[in-house]
Amino acid sequence: MRGMDTQDFDAIVIGAGMAGATTAAHLAATHKVALLEAEESAGYHSTGRSAALWIGNYGGPDARALTLASRAFFENPWPGFASAPLLAPRPVINLAPESQRAHLEAMIAEGTGIEPIAVSEVATMVPALRPGYAVAASIERDAFEIDVASLHQGFLNVLRKSGGVLALRNRAGRIERRNGAWEAETSSGAVFRAPKIVDAAGAWGDEVAAIAGVGRIGLQPKRRTALIVDPGQYDCTQWPLLGDADHTWYVRAEARRKLMVSPADETDMNPHDVQPDELDIAIAVERMQEALDIPVTRIEHRWAGLRSFTPDRSLAIGPDAAAPGFFWMVGQGGFGIQTSPAAGALIASLVRGDDPGPLAPVVPMVDPNRFRRSRA
Ligand SMILES: Cc1cc2nc3c(=O)[nH]c(=O)nc-3n(C[C@H](O)[C@H](O)[C@H](O)COP(=O)(O)OP(=O)(O)OC[C@H]3O[C@@H](n4cnc5c(N)ncnc54)[C@H](O)[C@@H]3O)c2cc1C
Repeated sequence: MRGMDTQDFDAIVIGAGMAGATTAAHLAATHKVALLEAEESAGYHSTGRSAALWIGNYGGPDARALTLASRAFFENPWPGFASAPLLAPRPVINLAPESQRAHLEAMIAEGTGIEPIAVSEVATMVPALRPGYAVAASIERDAFEIDVASLHQGFLNVLRKSGGVLALRNRAGRIERRNGAWEAETSSGAVFRAPKIVDAAGAWGDEVAAIAGVGRIGLQPKRRTALIVDPGQYDCTQWPLLGDADHTWYVRAEARRKLMVSPADETDMNPHDVQPDELDIAIAVERMQEALDIPVTRIEHRWAGLRSFTPDRSLAIGPDAAAPGFFWMVGQGGFGIQTSPAAGALIASLVRGDDPGPLAPVVPMVDPNRFRRSRA
């Protein structure tokens, strides 16, 4: 029986990180949407902890296609969406010590718009580069930093303006299909009811599916660490994003002339409010210092976030063939921000049953049912 506080919607979206926010915004024109978020603020988990980059050559074919398809939205978002540009140029430079030379050459050959650049030229751009660290380097000029907060708020504003509901502090704890509709009862005691439900719960994607009685797809959250240091005498504001070809460390200019450093770690974790590990912090500093002559006297800030991958590291976007009205929007890994505009458009078209248009080639790549054979 329906409780007194049951609210009816056209679609329920679980999780108000970037995946849930873009889903809700793209559905809002045609659906009355309830966006449920367990935490006090939207974006508390992975979305608020990213490196905020748009790199066309990052990830597998599905991530690259969604990233490229998102470019137009980033450059020309919906009217009134954001008050400042969402992208700012930030070229990517990869450095290769001798042992990584072959990998760098393969990256240049395989990538689009990745060119060789003389190490001496990199040293002019980044005077902290230690002579002798790299024997070769590449540059991807067409890369950007994303204003993640504006993007995320922009999507949430579209939801609100369309009459949708963002329900913070509402962890969905019971999810059931009854009489042709999904019911989600949350930690606040409210019950949300809709014929369609989208699982955009990030690291908790499998957990939410299990609560709903839907087979897991085998999502694996992996911890990634970041820290902020003061680069001392160097003004790093115009430095490119800099890392090694094997992706064992990278640095990125931050606000206030600070430098973000990451050891590009991927440690398997259960979903939780993940915190950095001291060893990963030490590894990040050591690897960065092999390449850059930057003394580190103090770590100014540190954090970690979860990057959640499906078993084949491609995204999972679309309907679950075994659960009517249940849709997946998970497995965003390390590219959930840069793919979000196109991924949102894709899941919305699949929920509506519309033709996904130019995104049609991506549909089989991200079909969540590809894991069905391995499901329990
Ligand atoms: C250090 C780091 C660097 C990164 N760099 C980049 C980058 O440069 N570019 C890029 O594109 N991506 C990057 N990423 C990846 C990106 O941050 C993620 O892919 C993206 O944020 C995932 O968004 P999400 O909405 O799926 O997850 P989240 O932001 O974690 O949102 C999921 C939400 O679901 C909520 N939830 C879970 N269970 C329930 C429930 N039962 N009921 C209600 N709510 C629930 C959670 O509270 C959470 O808020 C990086 C990640 C990290 C950690």
